[in-house]
Amino acid sequence: MTTGIEPACQEVAYPEAVNLPFNFSSVKAEFEFRAPASELQTAECYWVIIQGTATILEETHTGLKLPHGSLPDWLVAKHPSICIGSWRGKPLRVVSADSNLTPPPPFVCKDFNASDESMDIQTLTLAGMAKQILHWDRQSRHCSRCGAFTETIPGTWGRHCNVCNVEHYPHIHPCAIVLVKRGDELLLTRKAEWVAGRYSLVAGFLDFGESLEECAIREIREETGIEVCNVRYVGSQNWPFPAQLMAGFVADYEAGDICVDLNELEDARWFRSDELPLLPGKRSIARWIIDNFK
Ligand SMILES: [Zn+2]
Repeated sequence: MTTGIEPACQEVAYPEAVNLPFNFSSVKAEFEFRAPASELQTAECYWVIIQGTATILEETHTGLKLPHGSLPDWLVAKHPSICIGSWRGKPLRVVSADSNLTPPPPFVCKDFNASDESMDIQTLTLAGMAKQILHWDRQSRHCSRCGAFTETIPGTWGRHCNVCNVEHYPHIHPCAIVLVKRGDELLLTRKAEWVAGRYSLVAGFLDFGESLEECAIREIREETGIEVCNVRYVGSQNWPFPAQLMAGFVADYEAGDICVDLNELEDARWFRSDELPLLPGKRSIARWIIDNFK
């Protein structure tokens, strides 16, 4: 007997990092991405409704689905919806819902992240893209230089300020995430706020004047006291929380003993590759790197 929503069961394998959820390849077969100026006017749409860290989906006997049809009458939108292209031949519109809204059944409000496997990877990827676009829409309404209202630059995701004549384009922040190897051991770390017992990879934001490899080396040194060599790029994942690009690396141990930066981490330690702790979900590049390079 089945009860409720079954897991999406697509966690077989991601042969390359490009296949991971949140990356465009997950949806490209059925999604045509368009900048907002080329908006289609039609009542029949798919909707990605973002409410804070969640998305509102329709619960059906075959799983969680994007709402479909005209604008749901129960939806209290904070701002006009944005058409971001077409999905399965129909316009796909993104909109943010008021935080007080409780959708009526069969609609449910579903927190989404790479650990959750209750929605299929296409829905998860579209939700991530919508969240990232709505974040940019909110951040870019005013010029960051002079404070005036901005206008869309037709055919792009950019915004133009007519007062100081500056153009603004989406801000996507690069991060390095890195697996450190020492023989058959892996260096894994955990933050206090994570699920008990779960460890993952060192990761951090790119700083001024750094290459991504230099960022990886610095983050490992700062967070764990370990020096590494042979840093090599292995793949990347778009990370819409709210707007990162995770660039994945593998590095070899060179020197040093673990010294945990307790401002950032709760723990860091070496694990044998056949005795690994609880790890991030298979939808994350952290897990993809561990599974492919341990
Ligand atoms: Zn301006």
